[in-house]
Amino acid sequence: MNRKKVIVVGAGPSGCAAAISAYESGASVEVIESRQRASIVESETTSFEALQNLTQDGDALELISKMGFDIEPEAAYLGAKIYPPSGKPLDFRLNRPHGYFIRRRGQGSIDHQMIERIERAGIKIEFGTRVEGATPDGRLTITKGDDRFDMRADIIIGADGRSTTVGKGIASPLFRKDIAIGIGRHFKGPHGFEPGIAQCWLGSRLCPGEYSYVLPSREEVTVVTTMRPHMVPKGTSYGEYLERFLATPAIREGLGPSHKVCDVFGSVPVTPGIRFGKGKILLAGESARLTDPLLGFGMKNSILSGHLAGSSIAHVDPVNEYTTWINEKIVPDLKKRMRARETIMDSLEDHQIDQMVSMIEVVISGTEVDAFFDSRRRKALGSGIWSLTRKGYTAQAMKLLLPLVRANFSLKM
Ligand SMILES: Cc1cc2nc3c(=O)[nH]c(=O)nc-3n(C[C@H](O)[C@H](O)[C@H](O)COP(=O)(O)OP(=O)(O)OC[C@H]3O[C@@H](n4cnc5c(N)ncnc54)[C@H](O)[C@@H]3O)c2cc1C
Repeated sequence: MNRKKVIVVGAGPSGCAAAISAYESGASVEVIESRQRASIVESETTSFEALQNLTQDGDALELISKMGFDIEPEAAYLGAKIYPPSGKPLDFRLNRPHGYFIRRRGQGSIDHQMIERIERAGIKIEFGTRVEGATPDGRLTITKGDDRFDMRADIIIGADGRSTTVGKGIASPLFRKDIAIGIGRHFKGPHGFEPGIAQCWLGSRLCPGEYSYVLPSREEVTVVTTMRPHMVPKGTSYGEYLERFLATPAIREGLGPSHKVCDVFGSVPVTPGIRFGKGKILLAGESARLTDPLLGFGMKNSILSGHLAGSSIAHVDPVNEYTTWINEKIVPDLKKRMRARETIMDSLEDHQIDQMVSMIEVVISGTEVDAFFDSRRRKALGSGIWSLTRKGYTAQAMKLLLPLVRANFSLKM
């Protein structure tokens, strides 16, 4: 039997998932990765990929284990402190883990383990090799050092991240308003934050249109501030927001004697893609803009879409099959979360965020379960939920948010 030749571009989470699934679907697979192998396996000193906080409810971990990877998360997240602009924190304890701290680089990291698994299956990975262009008829132009050569494939899976080369002309272009920037620092050593309790800070002073966060595990802390570049006032640099966050007394004290390991910088798309392939090209993960628009998390959909792209190879028309799957399994949730982003992150002013957080406190305390629907209570809460947003989107926001909050959280008493 003539096996289909699949070239996967990128050995991040989506590319690794795609390579394994395509291989298991009977294809002959090759992976092309521009980074050097050492940067995936050894280094934890440069970028955001040193750490990730995997998605809600361990869903990505479940996916990974279904695919036969055995990845131990370093810490489970069992609670959160939300700091609205007013500074008065809302303290949650969760009914079950709501995320896991896992590593992207270094020995034992998720990338490392996925790559090992690919190599064990006998799939070839070319590190230090870059795809310069790809066309829907299956041709690729590649460079390795000073060499430049062409390759051909029956299917190309573009898993090359948000600045995708493979997806040029297929994925919609990314403008400043389509991305969120993350800038932060990773620390090691004794610290004063409660391990497994994430902190989320809101408001335009620290993170215009986004959120700042602290992720402490027992011996490590990541502090990141995220923002929408088009909402950052002219003349203010992203670094200033991080410095402001680090100078906040609660953060300074919490960091205690821990020491800096590396800086963290990167960006994620926050508006979903609409095209997922063309001709012989399929796009997976961030190259297809499948990141959660609300939180910026991308691991779960990267792994899921990679898996779907790889599995579609067994079908007569992979692009059609894959596009149908993505539209069924991922897009509806992205649309919902996109509406939540527009309603919450893009619309609320600081005083409205304060009001929203105090509303949540009322609702999850269990004493005011009907607060949202009961007009007397609404009035009693003054400029409550209906006045939160400019465009009258608040009802949708709270409808989306509150059932989630109620199902997952209990208030720390
Ligand atoms: C600051 C920050 C924090 C984040 N935190 C979280 C989080 O807590 N939880 C979460 O779920 N997600 C988080 N994300 C998002 C998550 O990292 C991404 O969604 C995920 O990495 C996307 O996976 P991917 O495989 O699609 O792309 P990538 O991880 O970007 O992998 C793409 C790969 O392709 C390679 N490549 C690129 N171009 C080429 C080319 N031309 N030729 C060959 N190879 C190429 C790259 O070297 C890379 O290895 C965060 C992102 C940032 C920036």
